[in-house]
Amino acid sequence: MLSLPTYDDVSAAAARLSGHAHRTPVLRSTTADQLLGCELFFKCENFQRMGAFKFRGGFNALSKFDAAQRKAGVLAFSSGNHAQAIALSARLLGIPATILMPLDAPRAKMDATRGYGAEVITFDRYKEDREALSRKLATERGMTLIPPFDHPDVMAGQGTAAKELFEDVGELDVLLVPLGGGGLLSGSALSTRALSPRCKLYGVEPEAGDDGRQSLRKGEIVNIPTPQTLADGAQTQHLGQYTFEVIRKNVDDILVASDTQLVEAMRFFAERMKMIVEPTGCLGFAAARHAGLDLAGKRVGVILSGGNVDVARFGELVR
Ligand SMILES: *Cc1c(COP(=O)(O)O)cnc(C)c1O
Repeated sequence: MLSLPTYDDVSAAAARLSGHAHRTPVLRSTTADQLLGCELFFKCENFQRMGAFKFRGGFNALSKFDAAQRKAGVLAFSSGNHAQAIALSARLLGIPATILMPLDAPRAKMDATRGYGAEVITFDRYKEDREALSRKLATERGMTLIPPFDHPDVMAGQGTAAKELFEDVGELDVLLVPLGGGGLLSGSALSTRALSPRCKLYGVEPEAGDDGRQSLRKGEIVNIPTPQTLADGAQTQHLGQYTFEVIRKNVDDILVASDTQLVEAMRFFAERMKMIVEPTGCLGFAAARHAGLDLAGKRVGVILSGGNVDVARFGELVR
């Protein structure tokens, strides 16, 4: 076991990311404030490099490689934003990258990953075990495997988004964070407890796959089948060992949002705030509207985690 990350690791990650990651804007909307009767602060990671917060964790993890690791390269498996985050970070740092992607991953994501210069190896997700395959490749090629969420350096990097939010707007009463495997939520927890200790912190996952909520209630990691949801960034089957440890100690509760609520939020962001947020990125705002929290008069932070959705698909969804 590596040791769990602390807020010092988030601060160190912020220093490594400085000048490489965007300090994304915190946007406000009077309409949203009026709708919910509170003050909302949207941390716009849809405007991060490669379109999602995952650049933060990927770049932080790769920045810590020693000379031998840099030479041998990085290996990652992902069908989505983690693939692009590792590919871009590797290119910026001059590290060779190999990404394992399922054969049926969206063409655009595969092209984007190749476009950043990574070698893409495809596998059949119904026949091959991707974790076994990636371990085999990592061993054969001497590459370092960087997982999408369950790694202290990834978690610390993801925590820099919430760190910037608190630095920019001060303490908050509530913070809502999208939840898949828990890299973003655990990193946000470290920043929240350091910079706004009284803030209520909630993870939000798709209604179709509430393994995080079940895990928190049960006190152990619960596994579920891959959930069917529009929130493709949060289609995880379980939290990680490291992420769960940080989440169970620091997170107040885990809420859920339905696909219909996510589409409604996407439409709101497009119409009212003139921006594209991908379905997974809408989890926090959907929960603010519908999860029954008492937000009246409160200062509420919402992390919009990403904006990577095919425009044709976006059109179909919000029509
Ligand atoms: C990966 C991802 C998430 C979930 O992050 P975890 O660290 O796995 O919990 C949320 N939103 C977007 C846009 C993502 O790409």
